[in-house]
Amino acid sequence: MAKFDDTRSYYRATAHAAPSHPRLEGEHKADVAILGAGYTGLSAALELAEAGYSVIVVEAETVGFGASGRNGGQVCSGFNKSMHHVEKVVGSEGAKVAWEIADGAPKLVGERIKKYGIDCDLKWGYLHAAEKKSQFEGLKEDQAEWEKWGYTGSKLYEGSAVREKIGTDRYVGALWEPGAGHVHPLNYCLGLGKAAHEAGAQIFENSRAIRLDTGDKPAIHTEHGSVHAEHLILAGNAYLRETEPYLFRRLMPVGSYIVATEPLGDNRAKTLLPTDDAVSNCNFIVDYYRLSADKRMLFGGRATYSGLEPNDLGGFVRPRMLHVFPELDDVKIDHVWGGYIGITVDRMPHVGRIGSRTYFSQGYSGHGLALSNMCGKILAEAIKGQTQKFDIMHKFKHPIFPGGRFRTPLLTLGMFWYRLKDALA
Ligand SMILES: Cc1cc2nc3c(=O)[nH]c(=O)nc-3n(C[C@H](O)[C@H](O)[C@H](O)COP(=O)(O)OP(=O)(O)OC[C@H]3O[C@@H](n4cnc5c(N)ncnc54)[C@H](O)[C@@H]3O)c2cc1C
Repeated sequence: MAKFDDTRSYYRATAHAAPSHPRLEGEHKADVAILGAGYTGLSAALELAEAGYSVIVVEAETVGFGASGRNGGQVCSGFNKSMHHVEKVVGSEGAKVAWEIADGAPKLVGERIKKYGIDCDLKWGYLHAAEKKSQFEGLKEDQAEWEKWGYTGSKLYEGSAVREKIGTDRYVGALWEPGAGHVHPLNYCLGLGKAAHEAGAQIFENSRAIRLDTGDKPAIHTEHGSVHAEHLILAGNAYLRETEPYLFRRLMPVGSYIVATEPLGDNRAKTLLPTDDAVSNCNFIVDYYRLSADKRMLFGGRATYSGLEPNDLGGFVRPRMLHVFPELDDVKIDHVWGGYIGITVDRMPHVGRIGSRTYFSQGYSGHGLALSNMCGKILAEAIKGQTQKFDIMHKFKHPIFPGGRFRTPLLTLGMFWYRLKDALA
């Protein structure tokens, strides 16, 4: 599987200085050992370290190397599924807790940015854009459902009114919400790492776990050392792969790609996104875009299911950007990069436990910036003995992807069908 070099990423090029951490060497002990320094792992580390637990985070590369340092920066609210679906699985009382989780996730990101003074260009305001009438009807239903759950302040735009928000004729309607937005995801992750470290968590970088003990005596083993702990948290998500077969079978790594244009200047940027919101469309294979702090268009979309990186990443994504904003044809692409999104069969996060001491959370299915922060916190709470939210998330059962070793070609075929549906419906 391609590793997806992130050296051409706009985020790497504009990352704030952050402390580097040593390689794990020799034998170590901690109350909690955490695999992975993305949002899930660092969120759990921060909560546990602040509660007085000794915590060691073991990261194969560097803080924010995975999806957390590469994503679209869209701080989405909710799950990737409707509350109607959630209620069917966890019942009406459980759904109240699930709503607290979904609604609380972007708020948690906002609170942490404020509390720890993380400099990461946070902006609130998010648009769901419909290319088709049927999608706009779906957005109206979403709005009605959110209002039922007490979410206020969202607004529908129809026809030419959409242009107040997005400078294109591509959409028939849009739903704006105030409680979601966008950040510089890598700078947020580095800030979260710094906060966890300052709270007392030890972080080891360039320390790939090659073996895990998930029984009564949990441990993470790397080439040069080991961490033995009372509890283990697995937060490797789409990058963990076969290191933990139980999780691997229930997760599909999907490649997603982003381009950053050259800076557009304030005036031109304003004609495209006048109110500087984050946008995603309603297709199965989603376009997601926003402006960066220095007024570049950051446009993400397309997807690969083969584990292989396309040769010409810019050429792969740019047509999607021009589909929405044809006038950007003359604009230079300065940065291109990609990363792996972990998706589950039913697109709900997979939160659970292996045995009695190993906790995990993965598979936010493209909706993970805020949710991974919340789920990391939920794992920390479960270890502290507060299991209400963990128990609700644990109720979502996650089947393995069908197809065994043929699952990738099967999924590729399935996705071709959805692409066709996006184009034709
Ligand atoms: C291109 C792209 C765009 C996206 N856009 C959005 C978006 O706009 N909004 C949104 O909500 N979500 C988005 N997502 C998803 C979101 O980024 C993820 O859901 C979230 O970052 C997951 O965080 P995580 O900590 O669980 O995993 P990751 O950030 O992937 O962290 C896992 C970490 O574990 C480490 N690791 C793995 N295996 C080992 C091992 N054996 N030993 C030690 N360490 C290991 C990895 O190196 C990595 O640093 C996007 C993802 C991608 C790739």
